[in-house]
Amino acid sequence: MPSETRPVALVTGSSSGIGAEIARRLGADGYAVVVNSRSSVATGEAVAAEVGGSYLQADVADEKQARALVDQVLARHGRLDVLVNNAGTTEVIAHHDLAAATPEIWRRLYDVNVVAPFVLVTAAEAALRAAAPGCVVNVSSLAGVRPTGSSIPYASSKAAFNHQTRLLAKALGPDIRVNAVAPGLIETPWTAGWSDLHALVGAGAPLRRSGTPADVAEVVMGLVRSTYVTGQVVVVDGGLGQVT
Ligand code: NAD
Repeated sequence: MPSETRPVALVTGSSSGIGAEIARRLGADGYAVVVNSRSSVATGEAVAAEVGGSYLQADVADEKQARALVDQVLARHGRLDVLVNNAGTTEVIAHHDLAAATPEIWRRLYDVNVVAPFVLVTAAEAALRAAAPGCVVNVSSLAGVRPTGSSIPYASSKAAFNHQTRLLAKALGPDIRVNAVAPGLIETPWTAGWSDLHALVGAGAPLRRSGTPADVAEVVMGLVRSTYVTGQVVVVDGGLGQVT
């Protein structure tokens, strides 16, 4: 097994947005970062090159691919210290339009946002324990804390993700810490077309602006470094949750 002298971090869905920024911050902090995406291979490889890390393509919602992703990280580096479950997906549906939120959409969103992170933690458990203290940071959402967000299935999936965070912290301590960040509205490719919402947040949230990936990555790094914190869901929303 290869011996990596640097600590190793896997960041899912990190070819863009919040995940790419987390990869940059971890790389700058001395981690060997494994960048992952489902489909954007060239962009993912570019982020990996930028952070001095490597790239692995995998659809984390596919159980076999998720397990293979962790296996490949271990085969390549021989260790895994930090797992950031950042990959997520949504479907924009007005909350009153119940018929549009079909069971197929519920299942697809739960597969990516809830089941995949659990499978990845399961696959990584032994390596994270060996790293003791191993660390998991989940990128959840304000939509899982407040009754808001792009659709009811999305918000529900993130609420489930928050509870998974607390339950896993209890189940995996003291060897592995598990925490989450819950971003409000962040400027990423995901929200690029949501200019009305950005204007509303700019006018109404206590800090009067949408967040940036750097705002979220800063808190993720704080959780990675905070060795006496586990089971927490830290809202990073410029105060938006106080007015929604
Ligand atoms: P983004 O679109 O830039 O990033 C999402 C990433 O997840 C993409 O790289 C995408 O390819 C990846 N992904 C999706 N499904 C995947 C799968 N099955 N396998 C592997 N990768 C997959 O958007 P972002 O805003 O940076 O989103 C990152 C996380 O932040 C998501 O979990 C999202 O729910 C959360 N979030 C974003 C906001 C926001 O306002 N942008 C707010 C709250 C929470």
